[in-house]
Amino acid sequence: MNYTTQMDAARKGIVTREMEIVAKKENMEMSKLMKLMSEGKIIIPCNKLHKNIDPNGLGSMLKTKINVNLGVSRDFKDMDMEVEKVNNAVKMGAESIMDLSSYGDTRKFRKRLTKECPAMIGTVPIYDAVVYYHRALMKITAKEWLDIVRMHAEDGVDFMTIHCGINKETIKKFKKNKRLTNIVSRGGSIIFAWMEMTGEENPFYEYYDEVLDICREYDITMSLGDACRPGSIADGTDASQIEELITLGELTKRAWEKDVQVMIEGPGHMPINQIAANMEIQKTLCYGAPFYVLGPIVTDVAPGYDHITSAIGGAIAATHGASFLCYVTPAEHLRLPNLDDVKEGIIAAKIAAHAADIAKGIEGASDWDNEMSLARKELDWEKMFELCIDPQKARRYRQEAKPEKEDTCSMCGNFCAVKNTNRILDGEIVSIFDE
Ligand code: SF4
Repeated sequence: MNYTTQMDAARKGIVTREMEIVAKKENMEMSKLMKLMSEGKIIIPCNKLHKNIDPNGLGSMLKTKINVNLGVSRDFKDMDMEVEKVNNAVKMGAESIMDLSSYGDTRKFRKRLTKECPAMIGTVPIYDAVVYYHRALMKITAKEWLDIVRMHAEDGVDFMTIHCGINKETIKKFKKNKRLTNIVSRGGSIIFAWMEMTGEENPFYEYYDEVLDICREYDITMSLGDACRPGSIADGTDASQIEELITLGELTKRAWEKDVQVMIEGPGHMPINQIAANMEIQKTLCYGAPFYVLGPIVTDVAPGYDHITSAIGGAIAATHGASFLCYVTPAEHLRLPNLDDVKEGIIAAKIAAHAADIAKGIEGASDWDNEMSLARKELDWEKMFELCIDPQKARRYRQEAKPEKEDTCSMCGNFCAVKNTNRILDGEIVSIFDE
């Protein structure tokens, strides 16, 4: 192989198998794809050791992709259940799975994922370090943090979220500019605690070049984590978030110098009116690197419904430049999601991604909607079920409240606007009341 990473290949003018697949899926000319990849604006996360990956590209000019977070925790350690969730997520169209396991033999689960799962696999090595070393946080050394990054690379993961952007300067800003909800990123809080207890610089920031060397060797995409993402709408676009984003922009450039593919993680909680501006700020400060948003959740008051609050934010974010949406389930802020929560989270994220693709003019995105609308006009229920984002639910709803007449639904019955307009246009008499 005469290239290191997909970015390196694009820069050298080498067409990889992964590029061919992505160009076909996105209906994009190879020369355009390669140019955008060489500039870092499109990435194809794929570890050289993840052999059965079905590659996908991420970039604001491509179809919006979604990620599903899964993994065992101390309170819920059923690995088979997590595998079932992964399989369902892939069947439902998730392009990416992040394994956030934080309990037990995490390596076994991770290796199983990269061996069996065709979706791109992401991890957060910092969670795993605490489990792997089985030792108090402050006793983990800087070198040991980096060893975990290498281990995940060897296990075949395609992208890693690493919180390199929170350094001593960011922490000064964070302490000076008080927030309503402090740090809500799990990885960010771990590295913050470690830095405060040891007095040392963030090892992922201090030894960033070594992290990049590992990424380059395996072609790991660096997902630059946002330790200071706002955890409440009150903290949206505050000094800590922006300070960290400036650092992430600098780190993006350094990664590109080593041909390492990069995406930037984003908010978090944020009022709707700030989302478009945040996408612009990110694009400028991070030179157009793909943006991976965790929400944004647009109001803080809806636990149990945060798949909705985040789908609203995600649709707006993707319309204005985000490339990749992390799903949020109704269980967010409350518990580890179960199978139903995962399903609802995926559907909500897919709706947000699709709505954004229509808005940003992705070729062919609205064909699906037009087919559905035609079936609706023709009152063709079977066709509508076939085209539904969740056929099972749509079918169940109709069956639970059957109409008297098959060519209407129980919402309006004889008053069915669609049916009556079709009849009038066909030259029929419509009386409604005695039909
Ligand atoms: S009955 Fe009403 S809701 Fe149902 S298909 Fe006709 S117009 Fe639509």
